[in-house]
Amino acid sequence: MACRPILAACLLTAVASGTLWGEGRLALHRVEVARDTYAFIGEQTSFVAENGGNMMNAGFIVTRRGVVLIDSGLTRKIAEEMLLHIREISDAPIHAVINTHFHPDHTFGNSVFAALGASILSTPAVREQLATEGPQLIENIHTLVAPWAEGTALHLPDGMITGDTILDLGDHKLELILFENAHTRSDMVVFDRSTGVLFAGDLVFHGSAPATPNSDLEGWLEAVERLRAMPWRVLVPGHGPVMRSKAGLDVLQDYLAWLPQAIDASVMAGDDINDLLAQPIPSPFDQLALVEWQFQRSVLKYFPEREMRLFQGR
Ligand SMILES: [Zn+2]
Repeated sequence: MACRPILAACLLTAVASGTLWGEGRLALHRVEVARDTYAFIGEQTSFVAENGGNMMNAGFIVTRRGVVLIDSGLTRKIAEEMLLHIREISDAPIHAVINTHFHPDHTFGNSVFAALGASILSTPAVREQLATEGPQLIENIHTLVAPWAEGTALHLPDGMITGDTILDLGDHKLELILFENAHTRSDMVVFDRSTGVLFAGDLVFHGSAPATPNSDLEGWLEAVERLRAMPWRVLVPGHGPVMRSKAGLDVLQDYLAWLPQAIDASVMAGDDINDLLAQPIPSPFDQLALVEWQFQRSVLKYFPEREMRLFQGR
């Protein structure tokens, strides 16, 4: 069955005929971003079955020591399709997978590459968060993107990155740079100085509203400032199209600054959460994909916290 690019009708036919697993392909979008360096660019959606959960970015670099992946996708199916793409480019062994943070869409494909002998690298905090929250998150994913999550299982990282590190792979030396309390408690970016490519993980959302349920908004804003100061030429965000200019960070930075201000202003005006949620989202943020959903998630999390902080400060 020809399912590239995937269409709803094609997906429904595949489900109905019982041939989805093994035959249906998700049409991952692979982009060559520099020498030896590729990105997978997912759709700007949430976890939904309609696209098989293909809603995140990832990437890989072909080096003399083997292939290094940055993030492993949401499901076993996505990871297996990444592997098919990698094999179109290189038959080198899979040397390592770097988990930029613990979220499912960046880690749940780990088992596919671990089975091939790849080291799975993360910070200790990411391993700990996956160990404690992973089992429930796996259950959620099986519900949300069924049947595409079939065979997806938790695989914890086995190689610990405890500080900024240079991974020397011969022709590519990858700088692993750690951030605490930003998009999550522990985020990592991968910078290849030889090509100027920065894999920023979910410290950067491009064209969609940032997901903040596990975030420290002030820390995240500082992290983006640090990324802006780095000498990258190409930035692969965790979500959205590849960025080739620092101006691409403007909307994200403005949104991360605006969000707590909007909540504080609403609290100070004596509003309740529903008053704030009923207000229109200002331009240019109203143009971001998923903004209403992400704004609602952010307000539900941060409104009570900011209210407590502001009233205690009086
Ligand atoms: Zn994330």
